Amino acid sequence: MGSILLVDCSRCGKKPSYYTRRYSGESLCAACFQETTVEKVARTISKYGMLHRGERVGVAVSGGKDSLSLLKILHELNGGARSEAKGELVALTVDEGVSGYRDEAIEHARAVCDELGVEHVVVSYSGLFGFSLDQALDWKDDRELTSCSMCGVFRRRAIDEAAVKAKVDVVATAHNLDDYVQTFMMNLLHGDVERLAWLDPSTYDENFPVRRVKPLTEVYEEEVALYAYISKIPFQSASCPYMHEGLRSEVRDYLNELEAKHPGMKNVLLRSSLEVSSRLSKAGRDDDASAKATVPCARCGKPSSKGVCGVCRMTEIVWQHAKVLDRNGNIHTIQ
Ligand SMILES: [Zn+2]
Ligand SMILES: [Zn+2]
Repeated sequence: MGSILLVDCSRCGKKPSYYTRRYSGESLCAACFQETTVEKVARTISKYGMLHRGERVGVAVSGGKDSLSLLKILHELNGGARSEAKGELVALTVDEGVSGYRDEAIEHARAVCDELGVEHVVVSYSGLFGFSLDQALDWKDDRELTSCSMCGVFRRRAIDEAAVKAKVDVVATAHNLDDYVQTFMMNLLHGDVERLAWLDPSTYDENFPVRRVKPLTEVYEEEVALYAYISKIPFQSASCPYMHEGLRSEVRDYLNELEAKHPGMKNVLLRSSLEVSSRLSKAGRDDDASAKATVPCARCGKPSSKGVCGVCRMTEIVWQHAKVLDRNGNIHTIQ
């Protein structure tokens, strides 16, 4: 251990440093940390052509630190001198219907939207699918679906529906660098090579009118959390009561250990993942010129990787159990 010295911010040279980026060696004061984080996001946006001037941008806001930080950063870029994100922002929130958990997050989202003057669109599982997550999990057979796999599929669809309702051109989600590399590793560990090709930070699906972008792809989770803290963003820190991460939390711990021993390792892994993903998706296109990432679902017509989409398959399973379990004489039909 070296001695602890109070050093000046390596950027402005005026204020004492507050945070050291071990992977780059910068020691930054709080204000310079915030500014460089916003600048990094601006560079990511322009590198991947994520946003274009004048667009209506939907920001998927759950009420957690990542999504509220993303909203604040995009809002700042909107009002600042840089032009990458100049457009109209709309926050899109999904109410999954988890009593005692979701309400607080939605309150935080609403408070930040009010403060920033950003339009806020909320859609609910109940409104879209006919059941809340609480109900779906109460009804389902444990052997068939895990809460996270089910919720992931429904949430993505709900965001899509909110995006269409809000008439946005593009949806920005708050996946950070850690989310990205964890997902990459998870796909490797599950042997799911095909999915490795789907990890582009900026995607367009010809079966869906809205582009999807991840402007926080190059920001460490730790730095998103610090940005939220310094910016005094109120956010929900409790995790979803249904969350069970299994392997993902082991992957997260492993990557954090690697990063602690070898600062910058996550950045290297991100670059490798992006390269593998882009080569795989290019190879896929070359192999079959007509290959598409998705096909329209045979039931609902929404983009799907197979004949019937995950939402339709899972909705059917949920309603089958609802029929069995509803003892009040209410027979639900499959949607
Ligand atoms: Zn400074
Ligand atoms: Zn479908």
